[in-house]
Amino acid sequence: MSDQLERLNRLPLRDNLRGLEPYGAPQLHVPVLLNVNENTHPLPDSVHKAIAAAVEAAATGLNRYPDREFTQLRQALARYLGHGLTEENVWAANGSNEVLQQILQAFGGPGRRLLSFPPTYSMYPLLASGTDTEYVTGARSSDFSLTAEAAARAVRESAANIVILCSPNNPTGTALGLDVVEAVYEAGAEYNTMVIVDEAYAEFAHTGTPSALELLQGRERLIVSRTMSKAFALAGARVGYLAAAPEVTDALRLVRLPYHLSAITQATAVAALDHADALLANVEDIKGQRDRIVSELTDMGLRPAPSDSNFVFFGGVSNPHAVWQGLLDAGVLIRDVGIPGHLRVTAGTEAETTAFLNRLRELV
Ligand SMILES: *Cc1c(COP(=O)(O)O)cnc(C)c1O
Repeated sequence: MSDQLERLNRLPLRDNLRGLEPYGAPQLHVPVLLNVNENTHPLPDSVHKAIAAAVEAAATGLNRYPDREFTQLRQALARYLGHGLTEENVWAANGSNEVLQQILQAFGGPGRRLLSFPPTYSMYPLLASGTDTEYVTGARSSDFSLTAEAAARAVRESAANIVILCSPNNPTGTALGLDVVEAVYEAGAEYNTMVIVDEAYAEFAHTGTPSALELLQGRERLIVSRTMSKAFALAGARVGYLAAAPEVTDALRLVRLPYHLSAITQATAVAALDHADALLANVEDIKGQRDRIVSELTDMGLRPAPSDSNFVFFGGVSNPHAVWQGLLDAGVLIRDVGIPGHLRVTAGTEAETTAFLNRLRELV
């Protein structure tokens, strides 16, 4: 590896990329994979058949470029999101990671700053360096919560051009109150700050947890980012999307690659959205497993953070690496996110969750 790094460093790599490691959750082949917050429920049969039929139909037209504006998909996403949104408000790309990258390409760049609040999604600093945007951080409380006052203060102190609020937050799993989003938006007025709420896990939130979609009306600097990778069980299809004012989507048209969403991707996503009900039925099941993990970990004397997502972040682990390894030895892969005393586990099917809990009980 260091030899490889040395050879890499002889290339005329951009200065801000030198010494960086690529994003890399380990992709190991073990029976129970609970490490990257995928939806481990297989696609329902009806959905997988509908997608296959849609892809087959799209295949006949692959000699032509796809609809550059993916209008049908934007309409389907707007219908799914509700809140009075139309296709003018919606944008999509190959995963919400690409959506975020396009936002940084349009609104970040040299001389501009992206503010976020670690521990949070590890891709934000990497997307910042990829677009030569400075990454700055604001502090959370010791229990990893974030108050409206602290968040707004960080915006003023950093004069950030872009803020990403992850809600529910990865890796802690907890959703933010809308008061935090509003306070960040207001604090950003002075600097014309773009505020992104990354709601990759929104569908897993407890009933009554509000979405920042509620705040979009009249806030042209606010963007709500979503994905089909988690609740819709489509991580392999690579479809992420956002809702924002129409002028935001116009800004992204300036940086997207032509025809960035393939005809196959568009057909897959539209077919899946046609079957949203069947897909979201699994979400209820996963939420049940998530709540079960929180309650059983508490019984084990561990300290799970409140979770509105499909994963649980828990503290009170005296030797996280040994526990991680002990689980792996039993064929259960979870995530060591590098925070002392803590681990993160994805809620899987009932059987997967049971395998995790049984092994963990032996280890702690
Ligand atoms: C999983 C995840 C995403 C989704 O990424 P995709 O590119 O859509 O697969 C986005 N944000 C966060 C915080 C995530 O955990």
